[in-house]
Parts: sequence; C-alpha cells; structure tokens
Amino acid sequence: MSAPGTGLVWFRRDLRLENNPAWAAATARHRSVVAMFVIEPPLIASAGNARRNLLIAHLRALDDELTQLGGRLVVRNGPASKAVPMAAAECEATGVYLNHDVSSYSARRDTAVARAGVSPIHGFYGLTVHEPGKVLTAKGLLSQVFTPFYRAWLTTPLTPWPEPGPGRATTMASDPLPRLDGPVLHTPGAVGAWQRLTAWLERVDDYPALRDLPAAPGTSELSSDLKFGTIAARTLLEVVGTATPGRSAFARQIAWRDWWAHTLAMHPHLGHHALKPSYDKIEWRNDAEGFDRWCRGLTGYPIVDAGMRQLAATGWMHNRVRMITASFLVKDLLVDWRLGERFFRRQLIDGDLAQNAGNWQWIAGTGPDAAPYFRIFNPVSQGIRFDPTGEYIRRWVHELAEVPADMIHQPHKADAHRREAAGIVIGTTYPAPIVDHAYARTRALDAYRRART
Ligand code: FAD
Repeated sequence: MSAPGTGLVWFRRDLRLENNPAWAAATARHRSVVAMFVIEPPLIASAGNARRNLLIAHLRALDDELTQLGGRLVVRNGPASKAVPMAAAECEATGVYLNHDVSSYSARRDTAVARAGVSPIHGFYGLTVHEPGKVLTAKGLLSQVFTPFYRAWLTTPLTPWPEPGPGRATTMASDPLPRLDGPVLHTPGAVGAWQRLTAWLERVDDYPALRDLPAAPGTSELSSDLKFGTIAARTLLEVVGTATPGRSAFARQIAWRDWWAHTLAMHPHLGHHALKPSYDKIEWRNDAEGFDRWCRGLTGYPIVDAGMRQLAATGWMHNRVRMITASFLVKDLLVDWRLGERFFRRQLIDGDLAQNAGNWQWIAGTGPDAAPYFRIFNPVSQGIRFDPTGEYIRRWVHELAEVPADMIHQPHKADAHRREAAGIVIGTTYPAPIVDHAYARTRALDAYRRART
C-alpha cells in the first residue's frame, strides 16, 4: 500500500538497487524515493586507501544508476545521527529504509539515529542470505560448529524480501563525494559485480581443483562486492546454485560468510576477545620489528612475503595465503591475532569485521570451530604444496623473479653459486628467515599450553 510523502533510503553496505530489500520496500510504498549515503568519519578513517577508493568508486556507480532513473545519490557528511534526521526533515520523509549491518558500531549508529527522532525506520537484512538468528540448531541456538550450521543453512527457508514498486528516484542537495586519490583495480558498482559473476560462471566448476592455488585464477574475487553489497549474497547463491561439486563448494563458502556474520551478531566482541576465553591469557611477544617486517613482506619466508605484498599492491589476498600469513604472525612470531586482524581489516578491500575477526580467531585457534591450537602451518611446506612452481611468489616478490622452483621456497638453503646465478644475496637483496620455524613452533605450543592451564 502506498504511503504519502517521500521515502528516504539510507544506503550503507548495500550499494545496489537490484535485490535490495530496503530500496524495494521504499519504492513499493512511496511515490518518490531519495537515496542517501552518509560519509562517516570513523569508517573512512578505518579504511586503507584501496578500500576507501573502491567505496568512492562504488558510490559514483550507484549515482550513475540512480541518474538513469531520474534521481541522484545524495551524499551527506556524518555523523549519521545528525545527517540522517536532517535529510529526513529536508525531504519530509515519511519513512526511512535501511538494511541492517551486524557490527556493534552499526547498531550504536542506528540507535543514535532512532534516538534523534527519525521515525518510522524500516529495517531489513540484505547483507547475508539468512538474517542472524534464523539459522538455528534443533535446540534453537546458533551452532558453534560450522557443519551443523551449514546443514541448517541449506534447508532454512528464505525470509521473503519486499518486491519493488513504481516509486521513482528523486534527489535533493548533496555534499560532494570525496575525491579518488589512487587507482581502483575493479570495475565498480553492480555492473562490475555482474561482470565478475559472469566470468566466474565460466570457472566455477574448477573451484574444487584450483581454489587453493594462489597462482591460478581459481576463486571468484567477489568478496569486495559482498563487502559493499554491489551484489546480494542471495543473488550469488541463486545464480550459481549447487548443481555441481564446484557450485556446491562455492555455496558452502557463502554459508561461512553468513556464519561469521551471525556469530558477530551474537558475540559483538569477536574482534576484541578470544571466544575461547583462556586464550586471552596467551603471553604474546608482540615484537614490533617482527610485526613491521610481516606487514612489509620481509620475513624471509617467500610465500608469506608474496601474500603480504599482494595485499599491499592490490588490497586483496588469496584465501590460502591469508591463512598462511595469519598463522605465521600468530604462531611463528607469537604476535597477538588482534594486531594482525586490524592490519588486514584496514588494508583489505573486502575488510569486514565479522569475516576478518572470525577467520583470525579460526587461525589463532581461539574461536568457535577453530583449527586446533597445535595445528601450525609450516610456511615452507605450504608454499611447496600450494605454489609448487613458485609462480605466485615470483609474481609478488620481484627479487626472487629468477629463482628456480626447487629453491624458491627456501632460497637461503640453496648453494651459494645457485643463489648467485639467481641474482640473490641473502640478507642483502632478500632477507634471511626472520625466525626458525621449528623453534617458533615449539615456542608457540608452549605459550598456548600455558594459557590453557
Ligand atoms: P571465493 O573462494 O570465491 O569465495 C566466495 C565467497 O565466499 C567469498 O567472496 C567470501 O564472501 C566467502 N568466503 C570464502 N572463504 C571464506 C571464509 N574463509 N570465511 C568467510 N567467508 C568466506 N573475507 C572477507 O570477505 N573479508 C575479510 O576481511 C576476510 N578476512 C580474512 C582473514 C583471514 C586471516 C582469512 C584466513 C580469511 C579472511 N577472509 C575474509 C575470508 C576469505 O579469505 C575471503 O573471503 C576470500 O579470500 C575472498 O576471495 P574470493 O571472493 O575469491 O573467495
């Protein structure tokens, strides 16, 4: 039923018009709809350049989409608790529409907006496939183990989303969008997301075979689209389906994403405290130089350095290498997982509290259904197994470009004349390993055992 007056849609992590429940509901209920985005200083400050620039590019793309419909994206500088009520008053909105996020920051922000007198607010869940609290065990709980969650996730009926209506996009005064101050490596917006999805459909059946090989284009690279909501997780699932082993393996990863979002909704301290509380007692070394060398990709472990340099150059890192680099920081350097989590979250174009903190806790062995604490990735054997020819390492660690496959994972162990032939001088052109893995492994096991007792 149509409501009088204008609907105001406050976009946050749902930068699309298609399959967007908040946008659909507003167009169904109001004749004219204003689309707004609030530039919030804490969110902008927490993003590294790559994510900040991608956000701006996505906002421009959303503005283009709205322009084609006769509207514009209204941008306002935050805080949201001032910007949203002001915009609602200016357009005489009779309803504000949004899609909820799951972080405590977003919950506080939305409460502040509601307290500022904006009403009515119509909230939807467009971020995940199922909304938090809907995928439960027989006992009515969120499973602390992924596989039972996944089984329930597959069979939980989808909460229907509103159908869009004839409401027309309109506009009003806007602040300018911040300028881009660097390159954007992806085609932005819903158009870019659909291009990536279309390309992925050609490759999805190779997913089980290639997904762990960082040199291959073996994964979808859709994570930043899910982060910014340029495509809905539901749409991905609908289009990809589960008909083949590759498609089914992909759907399972979308379920992991839901699981971490649901976990954050239930445990707002996921980014701050170990979900297995005894591990908050680990005596971390937190050696500043080690952390700095890890951040800069100068650990002397080629697969770790390649991952950290891929992250610095592109704002993205392959999942297998995220696991190897994170394990290296936590277990080999015994640096608190929270420092790594914050660094990743800032740098990643898909940096997302639920996904990032959940995965860091998984690697650190401190979270639900985590890798057992004694599982410590060996960065050399991981490199040999998942980058056997060294192609990925050579792509990112340029000083190892001439190093042959049989010595690329431990260049410091090669004969001096072979190193010379490959143009490397350990300690000068490429660092010696920052720590001995066997020694570091025992040290980590001791630290974890002490915390457990
Ligand atoms: P694909 O393999 O194509 O998977 C499809 C989608 O499934 C991904 O886009 C993602 O949304 C989801 N997915 C895949 N793997 C995971 C996973 N392990 N956990 C949750 N969802 C998953 N992902 C983020 O989106 N943001 C983060 O901040 C983030 N931080 C991480 C930190 C660490 C230490 C680790 C080990 C993993 C992290 N991940 C994070 C998960 C995963 O690495 C990325 O989602 C994946 O690499 C993105 O690439 P893709 O889109 O090609 O993935």
